[in-house]
Amino acid sequence: MRSLWLDTAPTIPTDPLRAGARYDSVVVGAGLTGLTTALLLARAGHRVAILEARTTGAVTTGNTTAKLSLLQGTTVSTVLEHHDADLARAYVTGNREGQSWLLRFCDEHGIGYERRDAVDYATTDTGARKLDAEHEACTLAGLATELGNAAELPFPVRRTLRLKDQAQVHPLEVLAGLASEFRRHGGSLIEGVRVEGVARTGADGVELRTSAGAVTASNVVLATGIPILDRGGYFAVLQPMRSYCVALTVDDDVPEDMYLSADSPTRSLRTATVDGRKYLVVGGNGHKVGHTSNTQARVDDLTRWAQEYFPTARPAYAWSAQDYAPAAAVPYVGKVPAGGGHIYAATGYNKWGMTNAVAASLALAAEILGGNMPWADTLYRTKVSPADALQTAQKNAVVGLDLVTGWLSGLAKTASTAPAEGEGRVIREGARPIGVCTVDGVQHRVSAVCPHLKGILSWNDAERSWDCPLHGSRFTADGKLLEGPSTSDLADTRR
Ligand SMILES: Cc1cc2nc3c(=O)[nH]c(=O)nc-3n(C[C@H](O)[C@H](O)[C@H](O)COP(=O)(O)OP(=O)(O)OC[C@H]3O[C@@H](n4cnc5c(N)ncnc54)[C@H](O)[C@@H]3O)c2cc1C
Repeated sequence: MRSLWLDTAPTIPTDPLRAGARYDSVVVGAGLTGLTTALLLARAGHRVAILEARTTGAVTTGNTTAKLSLLQGTTVSTVLEHHDADLARAYVTGNREGQSWLLRFCDEHGIGYERRDAVDYATTDTGARKLDAEHEACTLAGLATELGNAAELPFPVRRTLRLKDQAQVHPLEVLAGLASEFRRHGGSLIEGVRVEGVARTGADGVELRTSAGAVTASNVVLATGIPILDRGGYFAVLQPMRSYCVALTVDDDVPEDMYLSADSPTRSLRTATVDGRKYLVVGGNGHKVGHTSNTQARVDDLTRWAQEYFPTARPAYAWSAQDYAPAAAVPYVGKVPAGGGHIYAATGYNKWGMTNAVAASLALAAEILGGNMPWADTLYRTKVSPADALQTAQKNAVVGLDLVTGWLSGLAKTASTAPAEGEGRVIREGARPIGVCTVDGVQHRVSAVCPHLKGILSWNDAERSWDCPLHGSRFTADGKLLEGPSTSDLADTRR
């Protein structure tokens, strides 16, 4: 599956890796977090390289819905369930700073965006109560939300919560602009190089071991979605959540505001005009990564829903992506625990990274360069705690056990025939779980054990990938790493 954004992306020039090079800062990952942080550091005079395992925007930023909104579903009331009003205000301030910075950047560099109201809508009494609570929380946190009960939607709603004058972007146009400005300031954007490990070298250096040789830096920023180093314990406090999007071409008038349902299943709507063609983008049907195999049904359901309410809309694109839900309800941003003070990370945007990533980048750049940002001190005061780590580790252990049990009990049913086209399953050969699948007429056999922390993989039939239910690492049908905390491909089945 390929997103509307990646399919219509501008060309983004890149640079070669110089093995053995030394930088002031190396940023790992060329999504929105990596590019913004790298640009801020390069503008301040740092020698900066971005090391990107795949291509710019290939993972979550290129597969987002790209609403830049301070009304984020029911986020502020959720933040207040975990934290005090000061932190909720800091959350809104940080996101406002992130949104303003990015829109200013777009204005200064001729990158288009559209101003739109963001509207949460409820179709049930339960949803309406959630919106009442969110309105109260937003008011406390400094957002001028408005309650109502009318929407431009083709079905009745009970309640709406509106925040005027938010924005929507084409995320690859934004990344291309950031990349161009970053390179203009002397930065190197290096694609196709995976960072496999990071080690301290002396008092003020960090060596990065990569798939193309080693480089060193004074500071390393892990902008990899979920941080790739286990020493930070992040995997224990983040839940990888996957969800789906479809883009349909539309001729008729469609709702122009950016809508998000308060009830389940989630429905997220926005429009996009790309190369003169108008699309309605519909998102939703999320789930924990690796916890369901029949993912194509989720895509089909979104398309069916969109065509039920917008009968003349024609499906053009379908895609999926994942983001990380933080146990603390706010992102984890700052120095990596046990990283020796030179390694930083930003993660846990909970599907609201278009503003949170920029806020995190502003905070990280200030921390590295020596700036002062009081809202960031409050917002990012939550660190990975041993209690969080223990709770999530227990949850993961149950998941692991369920899967292994399910896998063992499924063995008797394992047929010796090859999976049908597009299907995959885990079988047992001796004591080893093996993933077998058929894609484009070719049969593949891979180790079904995730190299990260040994989760048993599950087949994803929409993406035709092997997905780990523990921490969200994903692999192609033939075992190549796509995303997540793993830093290596699946092991050879003979090992
Ligand atoms: C379906 C969906 C819809 C969303 N919609 C919205 C929305 O409307 N509004 C909003 O605010 N947010 C939204 N989000 C969230 C937002 O898109 C993300 O939070 C944001 O894009 C994350 O950016 P990032 O730079 O942190 O991560 P990414 O864009 O994932 O970038 C990380 C990069 O790191 C690279 N990498 C990983 N490991 C390595 C390694 N070892 N070596 C080198 N490179 C590596 C990856 O290849 C990747 O390119 C949505 C998320 C999803 C899943």
